[in-house]
Amino acid sequence: MNFLQELKKDIRFQEGIKNCINCGMCTAICPAAEYYEYDPRQIMEIVQRQKEEEIINLLKDDTIWYCGECISCKARCPKENVPAYIIQSLKTLSVKSGLFKFSKKGLQQIALLKMVGYTIINTGYCVHFSHIDTKLFPEQGPVWDWIKENYNLLFENFGIPYNSEKPGPLRKIPDKSLIELRKIFEVTGGLEYFNQIEKIAKEYSQQNNIAYSTYEKDELFNKLYNE
Ligand code: SF4
Ligand code: SF4
Repeated sequence: MNFLQELKKDIRFQEGIKNCINCGMCTAICPAAEYYEYDPRQIMEIVQRQKEEEIINLLKDDTIWYCGECISCKARCPKENVPAYIIQSLKTLSVKSGLFKFSKKGLQQIALLKMVGYTIINTGYCVHFSHIDTKLFPEQGPVWDWIKENYNLLFENFGIPYNSEKPGPLRKIPDKSLIELRKIFEVTGGLEYFNQIEKIAKEYSQQNNIAYSTYEKDELFNKLYNE
């Protein structure tokens, strides 16, 4: 696979880089750069050099996964580049090529797939109330535990039609809509993306002798999530 050529096929790559002058404005505004050793300006510089070896190193590295895709950099770039689009295209190629398995942050895509990806496909929600495991969010204190235990009372008092056919928040998404949603993921390559993550998850589990199952928050999930 020629990685640079593959990147150039991605519309986000085509739109995201016009003429980077390395001014660093994107890094100055980037919230992720506040917290991590992360510099979108540097990524733009590497991409603009168009050297295959450097692109491969980026695809294997943690760096691209630090971007939270807030898109703040889009509005600030004086040359109308969009680092966020470039990084999205790099992430997609990293997963499609399987190179994300070399990155600790990249491997966390496995936890994200279980936590959000499959939830969207199966329920129509990014985060579904019934899927929330309160142990994973200790920062919420006892509040979420209380809500989980008393949700019938709470939802009734607030008129929330949880899991019912009535309109409103947390309603059950009709099967027809879920089929349509799945079709969108199929034709846009989302399911292929999920399958690739799943494939690497199985390989990684076997190589490291870790238990793995597709939907459960199992040993591999806990390892990746807690890291
Ligand atoms: S992408 Fe834009 S803001 Fe970022 S370094 Fe290049 S020219 Fe500056
Ligand atoms: S989209 Fe990514 S690179 Fe751009 S400002 Fe947000 S976190 Fe930073």
